[in-house]
Amino acid sequence: MVMLPNLSPIEGESTVSWCSRLDPFHAGLSGPHFLQLMQFSRQSVVDMTDDCIGRLNELTGVSEDRIRVFGISRIEAARFKHRDVVFGMRFALRTHTIFCPACLLEDADPAGASSGRRVGRIGWMFSPVRTCRRHGIVLHRRRNSGFHEQFQDMNLVAPDDAVLEKLAGNAPSANTFGLQSYVERRFSGVPGPDWLDTQDVDQASKACEMLGAWLVFGAHTNLDKLSLREWSEAGSAGFEAARDGVDGLRKALEEISRESFRRSSKGGPQAALGRIYQWLQFKKSKVDPRPVRDVVREFVLDTMPIDPGTTLFDHPCRWAAPSFAGQSVAIDRRS
Ligand SMILES: [Zn+2]
Repeated sequence: MVMLPNLSPIEGESTVSWCSRLDPFHAGLSGPHFLQLMQFSRQSVVDMTDDCIGRLNELTGVSEDRIRVFGISRIEAARFKHRDVVFGMRFALRTHTIFCPACLLEDADPAGASSGRRVGRIGWMFSPVRTCRRHGIVLHRRRNSGFHEQFQDMNLVAPDDAVLEKLAGNAPSANTFGLQSYVERRFSGVPGPDWLDTQDVDQASKACEMLGAWLVFGAHTNLDKLSLREWSEAGSAGFEAARDGVDGLRKALEEISRESFRRSSKGGPQAALGRIYQWLQFKKSKVDPRPVRDVVREFVLDTMPIDPGTTLFDHPCRWAAPSFAGQSVAIDRRS
């Protein structure tokens, strides 16, 4: 049985938001009551289970393929999928409430596409998406107050309009979209750059963000203190370096280590590459950094003195680097 009149998702709207708008549209019920009436669990909507998609299709007439476009499916305990792109659990931020206050205020227009109802955008959920292109401001992002806020109904998780006005007025302006645009293109199936496309999208994004953070803010910057706007800037700078593949990455690493040596000529790779080295050497990441790690390892072996036997990014080095050993000795790069 299809419920009439038909209410389709708005372009870019999340499945959770769409389901939240179905409530008052069809039954005059608020929040989760409509889902209860229809015997949906909120978690099945958050996880976009096959059963949930099938039932939404039956009730609304919207095709299953179209419903899938606006959600994130759980495919394993810690693996998720949006469109045809698979990623780990920290890439789609289920632990956070995220919105553009200016977009939500515009949604209140009764003549708008949502007839005055707030719309949660699926794009806001992805970690590298930190700015609203439409309004040129940094998105509002905060930790959820509890598990229940995984259900990102903007009527429940975002504040009232008066607070939204303040948040919109105080939001830092932002115009760095490089990495964000790459992620959006990848979801749309647009290929390139090649080096990034060979990696999982969360691996590629993490590499851009970490590299960019050190390019823009220095090899020894405290990452915990970077703001969302600064992370957006970092992501774009890292993307610009990584779009040229290994050559671009090596140029970026040269720039970072040159700046470190300008400040102090002492020390090995840790002094030169700072937190890049710590990140890769001491595994300070939940995302496997292997592709960028291999490039950094090659760079270190080519340009810095490494004692034979030193373990560099999980692998022992058998030989000293030739430029520092004073003789021409081949490096075994497999070791
Ligand atoms: Zn906006």
